[in-house]
Amino acid sequence: MALQHQKLSSFVLTENMDMSRHSSLSTGGRAEYYAEPRSIQDTIHVVEIAYKKGLPITVIGSGTHVLVADDGIPGLVISTAGMKGMSIKGDLIITAPGETLDNLINVAIEHNLIGLEEIAGIPGTIAGAVSVNAVANGRSISDVFFYADYLTANGEIHRRPCFHDYFKKQKSAFKNGEIMISIALRLIPSRKTAEARERKENYVEKMFIPPCRRFSGEIFRDTPFMSAAEAIKKAGLTGKNGRGAEFSEYQPNSIFTYPGCSSGEVYNLIREAEVTVKEKLGIDLERSITLLGNFTD
Ligand SMILES: Cc1cc2nc3c(=O)[nH]c(=O)nc-3n(C[C@H](O)[C@H](O)[C@H](O)COP(=O)(O)OP(=O)(O)OC[C@H]3O[C@@H](n4cnc5c(N)ncnc54)[C@H](O)[C@@H]3O)c2cc1C
Repeated sequence: MALQHQKLSSFVLTENMDMSRHSSLSTGGRAEYYAEPRSIQDTIHVVEIAYKKGLPITVIGSGTHVLVADDGIPGLVISTAGMKGMSIKGDLIITAPGETLDNLINVAIEHNLIGLEEIAGIPGTIAGAVSVNAVANGRSISDVFFYADYLTANGEIHRRPCFHDYFKKQKSAFKNGEIMISIALRLIPSRKTAEARERKENYVEKMFIPPCRRFSGEIFRDTPFMSAAEAIKKAGLTGKNGRGAEFSEYQPNSIFTYPGCSSGEVYNLIREAEVTVKEKLGIDLERSITLLGNFTD
């Protein structure tokens, strides 16, 4: 389909955006172009601009699970974190991609819909969570995912339904450049909302998420032999050791950065973990975090 959409201008297209401001690790270079559309029409318009300029598209939510290269990201970065809004139809909650998980769970409970409490406390947007199939306390987004509507780089809108084969733990069901614009989750109707609220608060407390600044989500996927956190701990990789980035003592599969740290240092730490875990434990770690831009060994 040719791109012919009405042009709106309620978003700003920024050149040379400092992407460390849009990554929870607070590292990395600049995006050639950056836009934060607030509506589907705006997103279509942004994609049209990229199409006309021949720019590759990179999509992010709120950047809690990405590592941005120090050389930056060529083309256009679109963040859907500003796309808000939800509606309820029976047991379906249909949400814009930028809603936070926290807000989504609260609104669902207010409308007598439960089933997401276990993942309460995970930072980031619902689209980011669907993209990586976020998991916590034995519950994953794929348990409640019904469909997502997404926009392709050539301006077509498609629907991806809830075939579970699309999801593996923390593996994206979406290709580069496919932008989720609307997501439907099927929840469980229930009047036990007070209990659900309490359960949610308990999970938030249990998870004890540290402040998101300078912190990443899980770097590696769990292995068939042991969790990635266990492997990193067993390989003796946690702690600062005089570097700008470290695997957290508290959450060994997450990286914490210190001011002045570069993405190159984070990447080197990730590579070191892969090599050390292979040498010491014979296990191949698979990355979960999304690398944006070019990284070389
Ligand atoms: C302190 C901390 C704790 C965390 N704990 C957990 C945890 O317990 N469990 C867990 O699973 N995760 C955890 N995470 C990781 C992270 O919070 C989740 O993966 C979150 O859902 C990512 O959302 P985001 O909006 O920040 O996505 P981003 O980091 O911005 O993006 C993540 C991926 O989603 C894709 N994406 C984002 N928006 C769209 C869109 N609209 N269309 C298509 N693709 C899109 C991006 O391309 C990228 O590949 C944690 C992170 C932090 C910082």
